[in-house]
Amino acid sequence: MDAPLFDQWRARSPFYDESHEAVCDTVRKFVAREITPHVDAWEAAGELPRELHRKAAEAGVLALNYPEEFGGTGSAFNLLHGLVQTEELARPGAGGICASLMTHGIGLPPILAMGSEHMKRRIAPAVLAGEKLICLGITEPGGGSDVANLKTKAERKGASYVVNGAKTLITSGVRADYITLAVRTGGPGIGGISLLLVELDSPGVSRTPLAKMGWHASDTATIHFDNVEVPAENLIGPENGGFAGIMRNFNGERLGMSQQAAAFARICFEDALDWARSRETFGQPLIRNQVIRHKLADMLRRINATQAWIDQSAWAVLNDKAFPGDFALLKVQATQTMEVCAREACQILGGASFVRGSRIERIYREVRVMAIGGGSEEIMFDLASRQYRF
Ligand SMILES: Cc1cc2nc3c(=O)[nH]c(=O)nc-3n(C[C@H](O)[C@H](O)[C@H](O)COP(=O)(O)OP(=O)(O)OC[C@H]3O[C@@H](n4cnc5c(N)ncnc54)[C@H](O)[C@@H]3O)c2cc1C
Repeated sequence: MDAPLFDQWRARSPFYDESHEAVCDTVRKFVAREITPHVDAWEAAGELPRELHRKAAEAGVLALNYPEEFGGTGSAFNLLHGLVQTEELARPGAGGICASLMTHGIGLPPILAMGSEHMKRRIAPAVLAGEKLICLGITEPGGGSDVANLKTKAERKGASYVVNGAKTLITSGVRADYITLAVRTGGPGIGGISLLLVELDSPGVSRTPLAKMGWHASDTATIHFDNVEVPAENLIGPENGGFAGIMRNFNGERLGMSQQAAAFARICFEDALDWARSRETFGQPLIRNQVIRHKLADMLRRINATQAWIDQSAWAVLNDKAFPGDFALLKVQATQTMEVCAREACQILGGASFVRGSRIERIYREVRVMAIGGGSEEIMFDLASRQYRF
């Protein structure tokens, strides 16, 4: 097998054609030129340079599949092109870079789906041009899984809301200019939650950076809101009607994370295969051992099954046949595939996998955030069981 494995699966899929290969080509060149050489420096710095966002915008990466009227690429591309882009961005094996460069993928959609025309025009073009950064604030220090119970409060006072509370584990939270913030405007439960656009240089906002196990290049923060005044026109969608927007957002995020997890699993497979072919133990290449070939075949089995389900799910979205329970189960499938592949790749690389700086070593440290962030495994199973009604 001489062709790079990264490229083989699309050629045998009914869902992809030359237009997807063109996206692959553009993004791959961008990543090789602007990201790969800097991974170690950005991991050490704990954040990405703002300049990268502008360069990504120029390369067409930030605006792929967003409405043309706000600077997006429009209807020439769709979700499947987005999946190709996600995979290419994952190739350096640094999930924190994908997470922070593409945080607008979770921060912006609620505005485009539910915000006023004025808000869309004010926020979206600047974000898609890489000039402004937007993040999403759902998780709180008191808990992230139980979204319906969130406590950050926004009280209406005249023409403003006054926000008090805190959000934590917020991706791009140190650098972002805006946050799409889930707040309680009404009574308990899902019927009392709204979404508010908050400018993060507002008086009363403070941020604490968080050091993490992985995703080092991604700045992550706890953000405190102390009597922060937000104009009432910054409400995204109806008051107390924010929960539906949060849920819709989760489905897209889970599909994207699934593709990312599958890409990381594929990297683990590729690097482990390369190593097994070149490493000699007991006088022969490692790959000559049946147990090693079985490990690799098992990794590939899981990756192929996961990718097939991802592609089929994207097709279902495009054809209005998606079922929300599937996104939850798919996320578990993909992140468990990543987990097994990261483990087996480390075993095949042996001690070399434990040395800082390789793709495998980084991916191994990123398994947990993929399995917990955007909805943990336990919560995904539970959600799916309710959506499947059992
Ligand atoms: C690096 C990183 C980046 C993140 N970025 C963002 C972001 O940008 N915006 C944002 O809003 N959030 C973000 N998150 C937060 C993430 O979405 C939450 O961590 C996740 O939803 C889980 O919430 P929690 O950590 O508060 O865990 P908890 O809700 O406290 O749960 C703890 C554990 O208990 C389990 N559990 C909880 N309830 C049950 C139950 N009923 N039954 C069985 N098990 C249960 C959970 O599965 C979890 O494993 C990020 C997290 C990380 C690690």
